[in-house]
Amino acid sequence: MHLVEATEWEKLIQNLIKEGVLRSSRVIETMRKVPREKFLPENMRSYSAVDTPLPIGFSQTASAPHMVAIMNEALQLEIGHKVLEVGAGSGWHAATIADLVAPRTAPRSEWGHVYTVEIVQGLSDFSRKNIMNSGYGDRVSIIHGDGSVGYPEKAPYDRILATAAAPSVPKPLVEQLKPEGIMLIPVGSLSLFQNLIKLTKTRDGKTKEENLGGVAFVPLTGKYGQQF
Ligand code: SAM
Repeated sequence: MHLVEATEWEKLIQNLIKEGVLRSSRVIETMRKVPREKFLPENMRSYSAVDTPLPIGFSQTASAPHMVAIMNEALQLEIGHKVLEVGAGSGWHAATIADLVAPRTAPRSEWGHVYTVEIVQGLSDFSRKNIMNSGYGDRVSIIHGDGSVGYPEKAPYDRILATAAAPSVPKPLVEQLKPEGIMLIPVGSLSLFQNLIKLTKTRDGKTKEENLGGVAFVPLTGKYGQQF
């Protein structure tokens, strides 16, 4: 049963289109297709169409729809991409990415894959359950561990995103990005506000950084995370 009227979700999508946050038809389609409510704890499901981060337990949050939209547009995801996400949380963002890099409409041989690392055991279990229940288990792998060091086992990646704020861009993540790859990572202090950095690697391995603007993410913990 859907707790949120489809029209409420559609209204949110229309607003994001009007604001210019959602622009490309593939990203818009994915937002329509992957139901956020299926990735939230039961007591939060009725708020799924509210454009705000929502609590998922363990003092963590599921990202707001506009932030997932901004990141998915900026990542320029293509079918076949291998993607690393640092911070699985609810698993919703990973599922939306899976839908872009490995849509069911594409031949399986062309599918990409999403590897998402989560440091909190309870949340890696929660996101795995959500991913399996919503039919993305064949396109998303959830790893319990410290994603601030990346996931070298499956490197290099076409795209990397961090959904928690780092004090600076972790070196292992840069090393695990393919030439011509794109990384998105919130960088800044422990306070609530950071900058969303888009790091692009050129064909010859040089990097350039662009600031996409102010954001508010929970802190990245682990080896290259915030020091408390
Ligand atoms: N992408 C998530 C979603 O769709 O719900 C939102 C993630 S939440 C804003 C950030 C997550 O990053 C939290 O679940 C937190 O436990 C996780 N995290 C923080 N530091 C981490 C680290 N070093 N490695 C892996 N996960 C980390």
